[in-house]
Amino acid sequence: MQKRKRCRNKDCDELFTPCPQVPNQEYCSKKECRQARKKEWNRKKLAEDEDYREARKDAQKNWRKKNPDYWKQYRARQKDYVQKNRQQQRARNRKRQQVDLDNLIAKTDESLVKKAVLTGRYRLIPVRGDMIAKTDESIVEIIAISTG
Ligand SMILES: [Zn+2]
Repeated sequence: MQKRKRCRNKDCDELFTPCPQVPNQEYCSKKECRQARKKEWNRKKLAEDEDYREARKDAQKNWRKKNPDYWKQYRARQKDYVQKNRQQQRARNRKRQQVDLDNLIAKTDESLVKKAVLTGRYRLIPVRGDMIAKTDESIVEIIAISTG
């Protein structure tokens, strides 16, 4: 039975059982710990190994040479993405506004129905054509017989 070790990834710091096939295993096998190990290895290598540093610089340079439009295309893709997102948000907003409006109309109808059966005094104003003749107004009393 292998002795348990503490994972060197400070974010993990859990006890793990090293694989017998891996000598001096210092990180557990979780994905983020494997990544931390790689990162640490890379950092050390960059600090200590000039050839590695140079090779990496060359590789990056070559990559840029091979993909000169990468950042331009990346920005264009981002722009499309932002635009598309904005459109979708607008559509969602419109939909929500419509729902709000529908709710408001439904509520208004409901309160009108409730008010319509309210017993009370009302001002009755005759409408002639499009004109409202206020002078002919009279007070009427409405008494609800059934509240529904
Ligand atoms: Zn770990």
